[in-house]
This record gives sequence, structure tokens and C-alpha cells, in this order.
Amino acid sequence: MLGKMMDQPLLISALIKHAARFHSDTEIVSRETDGTLNRTSWQAIEEQSRRLMAGLRKLGLEQGDRIGTIAWNNHRHLKAWFAISGGGMVCHTLNPRLAPDQLIFIVNDAGNKALFFDKTFAPLIAGTRAHLKTVEHFIFMGPRDPEIEAAVPGAVFFDDLVQEAPQDWPALDENTPCSLCYTSGTTGNPKGVLYYHRSTMLHTFAIAVPDALNLSSTDTILPVVPMFHANAWGIPYAAAMTGAKLVMPGPGLDGDSLLHLIESEKVTLALGVPTIWQMLIAAAKKAGSRMDSLKRNVIGGSAAAPSMIATFRDDFDCETLHAWGMTETSPLGSANQIKGKHLGLEPDAMAKLRLGQGRPPFGIDLRIVDETGAPLPHDGQAEGALQCRGYWVVDTYYGKTENTLTADGWFDTGDVATIDADGFMVIRDRTKDIIKSGGEWISSVDLEGIAVSHPGVAMAAAIGAVHPKWDERPIIIAVKAEGANPSQSEILALFEGKVAKWQIPDAVVFTDAIPLNGTGKMLKNKLREQFGNYLIDQGA
Ligand code: AMP
Repeated sequence: MLGKMMDQPLLISALIKHAARFHSDTEIVSRETDGTLNRTSWQAIEEQSRRLMAGLRKLGLEQGDRIGTIAWNNHRHLKAWFAISGGGMVCHTLNPRLAPDQLIFIVNDAGNKALFFDKTFAPLIAGTRAHLKTVEHFIFMGPRDPEIEAAVPGAVFFDDLVQEAPQDWPALDENTPCSLCYTSGTTGNPKGVLYYHRSTMLHTFAIAVPDALNLSSTDTILPVVPMFHANAWGIPYAAAMTGAKLVMPGPGLDGDSLLHLIESEKVTLALGVPTIWQMLIAAAKKAGSRMDSLKRNVIGGSAAAPSMIATFRDDFDCETLHAWGMTETSPLGSANQIKGKHLGLEPDAMAKLRLGQGRPPFGIDLRIVDETGAPLPHDGQAEGALQCRGYWVVDTYYGKTENTLTADGWFDTGDVATIDADGFMVIRDRTKDIIKSGGEWISSVDLEGIAVSHPGVAMAAAIGAVHPKWDERPIIIAVKAEGANPSQSEILALFEGKVAKWQIPDAVVFTDAIPLNGTGKMLKNKLREQFGNYLIDQGA
């Protein structure tokens, strides 16, 4: 033998062991469901996770069992994650905002044997449990509570389970499943993506580096993105790896609650979808706060409007990192960090570069292809179907036998993008949302970015409305900002000079609210149902 390195499996338990050993007193702060704040540490999270793992085993749960969670981001949820995955079981985060019948479908499809639930969701459990065929244990995330005993008879209590003596983390193969997350299923039933210890660990290493999310033990991180949205983008794992302080928002996802946490806990980095930032910006402006501690935020899940990135930069001295990913990609697929050659770029050029979704970290490969599947050039101009492959990209959905890849082994994302010679990717649209006018494509993302740059517009969606001559023409569905009353012509004037004349929307339709899915994304299919015939109705 020439020599040998240690052969240690890549396991999630190693993350929490490391955090407990080398960042033992670093705080984890969470807002409880009753609004109070809980303070604990990495050391206590690790110990309690091992107690909980022992409690789960006592209930008869075994390696490979799927265990669901319906919960906010908080310390009990974190302990459940590490106990379940670290113990060799599969942590299945459920999105409580899904319609009950979708939730029932997902729990049954996953074959969950146990289900953790937060107080908020006790009525949901009470109302659906008769249909949850495989669930043997309902675990309430709190102390013994007569109200819960009445609402969910037979419930087990989290705080009782953590009374068990802690057990050691088991040795597992790194190719053991650790967690499960379903896609949002806007079209058809949601599909499960099963993550492995190995894929999750490689993803965790990759997202922490400076050219990705740039995480460090000096950070205080607020994952506003829920743990049920693609594992909170991997932040709980990466925070344990780096020993960062975590601030968990619980159910308080409104602007004022988030602002309060950012200020009181001196949050340096927060992550979430665009709809969250809109509420936070409004709350901070109203309160006259500059959110001084907040140096960086990560926006993903939907395109970040250029005006939002500018507001963070100019009004709050906060650098926005625009990132792209999917449930199927664990989720990080790209992040917009500059390269050495961009240092010293003029502010305008720098700002422009940073608008897109950025470049893939090591471990992810991206390409764009045409309708025949032929690769297109990375010249920043050609638009094509975005495909990816890598260490943490889905191969086969949960419970399926056929893989979901192209013949040459790539995963088709359903997005349309450009990629430039430096690898910087820009999402132009979802394939199904792009507006097709007279045979040409119009990016709904571009139009929305311009519409929301009007201070009187709180939210805007661009959709293709049916048109007798052009097949589709773009229209904007807009929600007015509180107290504002912008006119259609004012908004349409913003498009002059920013897009080609034929891309300027035909109309702006005001509405009270834009329907959002469970992860805060605009439901364009619902808008098309509602407003798709608007131009025809107007006599086009
Ligand atoms: P999900 O798996 O529900 O998180 O949805 C993934 C989809 O969200 C992607 O395929 C994109 O269409 C969209 N998405 C995620 N991040 C971004 C982003 N930064 N800009 C535009 N779209 C995004």
C-alpha cells in the first residue's frame, strides 16, 4: 500500500457534532409560536437532538422511516432535523400552506410514520388525521398541553421525548437518505426529492464558501426562508458547519417582526424570497430604520427586481446576493458573486452584472439548449432551456423507477436562461410563463422588474393575455402600494426606452392581491385563468 487517508462517511451528524464541540456557546435564538424568544446554543441543540433521537427510537421508529414535520423555523424544528437525519431516518418537511388534500397526498405518498407539528397546525392535524393512513405517532412540538391532548388525542409530546437519555449518533453509510422535500406542484401532484447524507454534505460545503453564500462563524444568520422550502436553502446545515449564530423567526414573517429581530439580534445576513423583502423594506422605511447590522441578504426563489436590489444597496447599505436554485438541486444552483476580473468595475457596470442569478459553484454544471436539445453558446445572448447536473441534483423522484434526466444525463429545470462566457446565468423566465407575442419571446421577469420600480406598485406580474393577432400580448397585473394611486399611463411610461417598443405591455390591470403559492411565488396560472382574456374582453 502506498499510504491511505482516513475513510470517514459524510454524515449530517458530523455537522452538529462539530458545532457542539467547537462552537458550543454560539447562540440559537428562536421566536416561539406564542411570540416569546427562546435562547439556546449549538451545544444544547446537539445534546437535545440525541435525546430526541433516543425518544424516537423508543416509539419504535427505525432507520429509513420517513418522519414528517409541519413547523416554523425554530429550535425544536432544528432538533427534530438533526435527530431524524442524524439517526438515519428521513426528515420530510411539509409545507403547511398547501391545500389539505395536497398535504394528505404528500404524507401518504411519502409513507410518513410519524409527524411533528407546531401548535399553529394542530387544527390542520385534527382535520386531516383520519386521512393520514401511515402516521402512527403525532408529535406535538412543545410541552404537554391539555388543549393539544383534546384536539389530537394520543399525541406524543416533544418535551417528554427529550427527557430520554442521549444516545450516540449511529454510524451510517453516506449514501443513506436523510431528508425529503416535495416540489410545489403547481401543475399536477407534487413530486418528492430524496436527499442523501452525501449530497447534502457536499451541498453544505459548497454553499458556505466566499464565492457562494460566504458564510462564517462571525455571521448572525436569519433564514426567513422556511425549513420546508428546500431545507431553508441548506442554511441550518451550513450554520452548524461554520458555527454561525442562527436567528429563527418562527411564525413572525411580517415586516415588523422581522425588523425587530434583525435589530435586536444584530442579524448580519438574512435569506428569503422577494415577497418577504418587500414587507421588510416597507416596515423599515416606516420605522425609519436603516437596519445597520444587516450587511448582506440573499434573494432567491423568484427573480429579484433590480429596484429591490438598488433599494437594499442605496437605502440600507446592504449587499444583495441574487441566487437561483430548485428543490431538485438541494437547492443552490448559482449565486451572483463577482470574479477577480470584475474588481474595480464602474458602479453602473457592477450593478448590472449583479442583477442576474450568477454562476454555479463547484459541484454544479449548467448549460442551455435549443428545442432539439442541442447546446447553445455561452455568449450572454442565446436564450435556451436551462439544464444542470451535479453532486446534489435529483436523478429519480421519490417512489419513481424511471430517472427524470435527458438521454445524456442532464436535468431540465423548466427555466429559460442565458449564460455568458464567465458562466454568469440570467433567468429569463419559466418556460411556461414566457410571453409569446407574434412568434417572439418576451421575458415576464424583465417586465415585472420595470413595473415594480414604480414606488406606487407593491407587486406586479406580467402575463401573456390572449390576442387575436399576436397570439399573446403582455399585460401587467399590479397591486398598489399602501396609500398610493398610480395610473396605468404612469406605469406604462416606465417601459419607454427600457424594452423594445413591441415588448411594452398593452395594459395594466389593478387588483387587490396576487395569489401566491406556499413558498411565496406568484401563481401565474391562476392569473392567466383570471385575466387571460382581458384584452379580448376589452375589444382587442
Ligand atoms: P422551487 O423548487 O419551488 O424552489 O422552484 C424552483 C424554481 O424557482 C426555479 O426553477 C425558478 O423558476 C425559480 N427561481 C428560483 N430562484 C430564482 C431566481 N433567483 N430568479 C428567478 N427564478 C428563480
